Amino acid sequence: MPNHLYHLTANQVTCGIRNGEFSAQEYIFQILERIEKVDNKINAFILVDKQGAIEKARSIDKRLRDGGAVGELAGIAVGIKDNICIKDLKTTCASNILESYIPPYDADVIRRLKENDAIVVGKLNLDEFAMGSTTEFSRYGPTRNPWNLDYVAGGSSGGSAASVAASECAVSLGSDTGGSIRCPSSFCSVVGLKPTYGCVSRSGLISYSNSLEQIGPLGKTVLDVVMVMNAIAGIDENDQTTKPIRPIATRTSEDISTSNISSKYTAGQNKRNITIGLVKELIQGADPAVSKCIYTAVDLFEGLDCKCEETSMKSIQYALASYYTIATAEASSNLARYDNIRYGFDYDPEGYEWNTYFSNVRNNFGDEAKRRIIIGSYVLSAGYYGKYYLKAQKARERIRQEIKSLFERFDVLIGPTMPILPFKIGEKIDDPLKMYQIDIDTVIANLAGIPAISIPIGFSNSFPVGLQIMADYMGEQTLFDVASFFEKIVDVRRSPEI
Ligand code: GLN
Repeated sequence: MPNHLYHLTANQVTCGIRNGEFSAQEYIFQILERIEKVDNKINAFILVDKQGAIEKARSIDKRLRDGGAVGELAGIAVGIKDNICIKDLKTTCASNILESYIPPYDADVIRRLKENDAIVVGKLNLDEFAMGSTTEFSRYGPTRNPWNLDYVAGGSSGGSAASVAASECAVSLGSDTGGSIRCPSSFCSVVGLKPTYGCVSRSGLISYSNSLEQIGPLGKTVLDVVMVMNAIAGIDENDQTTKPIRPIATRTSEDISTSNISSKYTAGQNKRNITIGLVKELIQGADPAVSKCIYTAVDLFEGLDCKCEETSMKSIQYALASYYTIATAEASSNLARYDNIRYGFDYDPEGYEWNTYFSNVRNNFGDEAKRRIIIGSYVLSAGYYGKYYLKAQKARERIRQEIKSLFERFDVLIGPTMPILPFKIGEKIDDPLKMYQIDIDTVIANLAGIPAISIPIGFSNSFPVGLQIMADYMGEQTLFDVASFFEKIVDVRRSPEI
């Protein structure tokens, strides 16, 4: 039995358990011990479901002993961002407003993970209601970057990325409205996928901005992310925006994903002759410490018969304004339901007239959530709707059209995931505009509804750098092909010493 089971990838874990090298219980005890040992430094977990995890491991071991069947993800420790509902476990969105909310049902993704015998180990830290890029806006305090504890882990799924990097779980789920899976993946040196809009059910995800967000997996390898996607993607009748997955690459099916007709995604196809568009605006806007790493990756691709060409995406100039207008508009509407009547915390209305009571209740939102409610209400208000919200939708359509035309020429578009390296905790917290600006590279995929993945490509000044790869609508398989192709040729460190 390998001595540090918690370091194993998801694929190694489930293979090891099935082959009888170690039991699900042995593995899960090591994971729980690991969490106990390191999470006081990282702060990735909001809640650890020790008992639930042990019971699940026990049932997997028993079934295997009895010669019964186990699911595809049997025994794998999964952490869940705390804006995804799990039946009978507190779901807080890292907000005071939901401090005692216990969902009576499982999100569709959780139902699928459980059916596949994954072991849910707990709920992970995030920015309040997934609004932020650093996980500093959490009522539970910031998640720390496992590569340097004084630095941010990225956000808003900071707990999801840091927990995987620190080997507190093998894989995790995050949500990505404007980069929240990819940003922390890049900052923590893990792989993170934002799926095509409609690929994964949002039922049971507590809404921030419905038209932009998707749940997606984070893992140490592309294969681990693929395994989780195979479990969570697909149609759900509780989310009318879900579509059947299309694992076949969309553009040049011959070049990229030969006629491998299967209903599942795969990793490690080792494809060549890929046409890559390097988005000029994204590279030029990046810190040289980041862009240097990206150019090294481009050289590697070119050395492998890929055609890499610089291209321009003019509409990027509208991306942030469009994103923050639409996201805040939808957020203000989504957060209107927190009136402490249907969901809430312990606060007695006795003796208050309604307006005072309501404003006292709403004062329990943190500053960032309040800011977004105010901006969102403003851009939707009667006199300004056309000037802001409608205009933002028009800009979104322009971005979508430009991206569509780029995918007639390229299989994938690449650039940095984040324009900068991780920064010190507290450094940008008082400057919302500076904070919003770092989302420039990631919001595009959400506005266009296309899939995008961040993969580790190296280190700069001892901090991880992520490469973002975007593909056409439903082009997840193309992303997996390119990403695993790249993963094979560069060996990037994924486990910090902690
Ligand atoms: N940083 C972006 C925001 O604050 C993205 C958040 C997300 O993807 N959930 O809106």
